[in-house]
Order: sequence, then structure tokens, then C-alpha cells
Amino acid sequence: MTVATTAGTTPGSYPITVDGDGATDHSAQYTLTIGSTNPPPTAPDIDVAKVQAHLSQFGTIASNNGGNRRAGSAGYTASVNYVKGKLEAAGYTVTLQDCTSCTYRSNNLIADWPGGPADQVLMFGAHLDGVSAGPGINDNASGSSILLESALALAAANPTLSKHVRFGWWTDEEQGLNGSRFYVNSLTSAQKTAIKGYYNFDMVASTNGGYFINNITSTTSAPMKECWDSLNLQPEENVEGQGRSDDASFKNAGIPTSGYATGAGNSKTSAQASKWGGTAGS
Ligand code: ZN
Repeated sequence: MTVATTAGTTPGSYPITVDGDGATDHSAQYTLTIGSTNPPPTAPDIDVAKVQAHLSQFGTIASNNGGNRRAGSAGYTASVNYVKGKLEAAGYTVTLQDCTSCTYRSNNLIADWPGGPADQVLMFGAHLDGVSAGPGINDNASGSSILLESALALAAANPTLSKHVRFGWWTDEEQGLNGSRFYVNSLTSAQKTAIKGYYNFDMVASTNGGYFINNITSTTSAPMKECWDSLNLQPEENVEGQGRSDDASFKNAGIPTSGYATGAGNSKTSAQASKWGGTAGS
């Protein structure tokens, strides 16, 4: 008996022919269909050099505007304009939301990638403001830059999406999560229900970092944990960040949340230094 197949490297339908042998020959042909015409895309690898270029831009923006990017300052406005320009050029629908209840009145930046069902939203956010004492590179140009480059990578890949994707850059986080709370309070109950997950990125560039995930045991965090598990990073719960960043605004409204962080003021334990490298006690 012989079995003949046609090799295929892309999704599609391929014939399989089976010929019997012996005096009475029978043959049958089967069709094997692999995948679909729209196979699920693989996640793009985010280019660290491009993230660092955004970080460098935020540093320059601070230098050119009195040394900081505090909410309501010229440095903050320049940061908003930088992110807005990149996103609009990539095809995002960008909305500036005037946070009238903020300590330092200024804009949240909301960016919607066109497409995907409006009642099934995944949202990713980072605060764009810093404190007045410095340029705010780790806190939080790091989260802002990673989010921006990820948004640009999504636009470049332009996959077919089963959910609508929205990004948010928050103002006035440093004065008490004011920008994100203002945004969540501005949503109707249907709009809140539509957000199936909110993912936060605050301080993701520590020079003595660890790998922390918010709500690490939740189903919302599962894709983030799966990714880091696949890299053998052995992530831990983001205990230090509980309730301290913009995910709290969403969590308080009943929206499932997760996020990545690399640590803030806590010291690295020797167990953490063993598995992640870096300096214990620092
Ligand atoms: Zn922060």
C-alpha cells in the first residue's frame, strides 16, 4: 500500500492518496485541511532599541522643559504631543481627555486601534506624568515607551483582531491616580463592562529589576505569565505595586486587571538575586 501526500507550508487543503495493492486495486483520496486562511499571528518581538529611543526622547523633553514632565507642565504637554504624533502617524484614533478633576489639570491620551468588536475591549495603560524632581525615566517614561512601541508594532503587523485594542497614557498619577480615575468615571456602565481586561505598565526599567505581575494567579494575567514562564523568568506577584498605580482605578470599578512591573523601592532578596541576577539588598 502506498500513501501519497503533498507537502504544504501554509494553511490550506492538501490531498492524501491511498493506493491499495494486490490483485484488486482500490484507491481513495482524502483532503486534509490545516489551519485557516487567517492563521493566528505570532506576537511581534518588540525592538528594545526603539523603546530606548522613545526613552531618550522623553529625557530630551524633560531637559528642554525645566527638567521634568510633571502633570500640567510644559514637559508633560510635550510628552503628550510626542506620543500623539507617533500614534496618529501609525493610524490610531487619538483622543485627548481634559482631566478637570486632576490636581494639575492636563490631558489623558486615549488611543484606539480601529477594528475589533466594540463590546470586547482589551486596554493597556501607563502613566505619562512624572514627579517634579526629575525626568521620570523609570517612573514612568519606561512604561510609556514600552506601551508606545508595542502600539506601533501592533499597527505595523495589523492583524485581524478578535477584540478591540485601546491604549491609555494617564496624567496626574503621581498626585493620586487622578487621570485614570477620571477616565474610568467618565465611562458608562456598558463601556466599563466592555473592558474585559486592563493591563498596567508602571516602572518596567529598573536597573536592579525583578519580574513582577499584578494578580499573577488570575485568568486575566494568564497570557502575561505564560509569556514570562516561557522565558523561564519565574515571575512573582507584584506585592509592592498593589493599589499604587492606575490599575487600581480600573479594579475599583470591577474591571479585571493585571500588568508588568520590575520593582520600585523594595530591596531585592537573595532568593530573587539568585534567580534573576542583580544585587541582593539593593
Ligand atoms: Zn509610576
